[in-house]
Amino acid sequence: MPKTFMPEMKTVEELRNHQLKKLKWTVAHSYNGSSAYKKKMDDAGLQSGDIHSLDDLRHLPFTTATDLQEGYPFPLLSVPFSKVVRIHASSGTTGKRKVLCYTQKDIDDWTHFFARCYEMAGLTSEDRIQIAVGYGVWTAGISFQMGCEAFGAMAIPAGPGNLDMQCQFLVDFQTTAIMCTASMGLLMAEEVNKRGLKDRINLKKMTIGSERSSDAMRKRIRDLLDLDDMFDVPGMTELYGPGTGLDCIYHTGIHYWADYYILEILDPNTLDPVPEGEIGEMVVTTLEKEGVPLIRYRTRDLTKMIPGQCPCGSILPRHDRILGRSDDMIIFRAVNIYPGQVDHALSGIEGIGSEYQIVLGRKNDGKDYMTLKVERAQGVDPGQDSELGGKIKGEIKKQIMVSADVELFEYGSLPRSERKSKRVFDNRDNC
Ligand code: ZN
Repeated sequence: MPKTFMPEMKTVEELRNHQLKKLKWTVAHSYNGSSAYKKKMDDAGLQSGDIHSLDDLRHLPFTTATDLQEGYPFPLLSVPFSKVVRIHASSGTTGKRKVLCYTQKDIDDWTHFFARCYEMAGLTSEDRIQIAVGYGVWTAGISFQMGCEAFGAMAIPAGPGNLDMQCQFLVDFQTTAIMCTASMGLLMAEEVNKRGLKDRINLKKMTIGSERSSDAMRKRIRDLLDLDDMFDVPGMTELYGPGTGLDCIYHTGIHYWADYYILEILDPNTLDPVPEGEIGEMVVTTLEKEGVPLIRYRTRDLTKMIPGQCPCGSILPRHDRILGRSDDMIIFRAVNIYPGQVDHALSGIEGIGSEYQIVLGRKNDGKDYMTLKVERAQGVDPGQDSELGGKIKGEIKKQIMVSADVELFEYGSLPRSERKSKRVFDNRDNC
């Protein structure tokens, strides 16, 4: 049997037993190790031994970004400094940055489950993996690399940007898989196409992370590069970083590593669980993390659970792609709209490109108006604008139940970036 990085547990019951054992450990560890966690639990009238079943999770107090900011520079640290071997931080102004400390065990665990991502994507030790994401304190390219090396594939630590070099590596090293953001993936795909390199490269798979990407954008990347498969890697600094799950080859949702953390999906307003399959905020509780364990951390990311079992047979549960941030939720004419829903509505329409913007404004009549700026697909004639616009309006009305004006633009005219593209422009306060 080749080495596997999948969980040792074979059944959901074994997984739940593991979660309960590790939840008890996490609560005791945080209570004893961090004065901030001790105070939170004392305030909630809880003691470290009060966890008897997984249902007791809901009695635990929440942790938020504010807890991390207030404890700057080393918030919620639950081990002595002598055990800390690395930090990572989210970018942001001083005081708003979240700094996370890792012990050697935390790094080893992260490496192990990142190797699992490569296994989940069906890669092997023969693969050559171009890691085109950032390395440094704000980003965690190093985790892609350590996971890759533990997995046994060949890492090409290219870093982000520098399309000349990226293209050269694709040709010279015959890279088989590339790790990047979706925006970077699109830039690379367009560059490879422009330079006519498609027949000289051997790229088969791409894993994208760190931002939402529309189905249309994925399809465009996939077609331009002739990829066999694309995967989504979620990740946030608070919860180790990238690599905390991956969709399998069936693409029925993102399998998340439930042996390393518990995921709750809660209504962001009431903080009660949403019915299975409905959109809510991801709230995570770590099970193995020593340096900065998380107890019911409110991520502000929105997604939903995927019920039932995946055809791959894994016991690891699935959540949908990140559909937006609870902070980004747009309230438009009393309807809650998540930008991910707009992605989804646009993705089924032929003749449009992958880039779009949502612009919100308020007119003199005091009412809110939404304009969608959408690119035509490459080669589509502007003469079709009224027909295309009508289709887009219809799809938005049908799926999100709001009326939007549509403006169509030349392919390639909306701004692209190597990092995250801004898509929502809310001008209602300026009107
Ligand atoms: Zn699966």
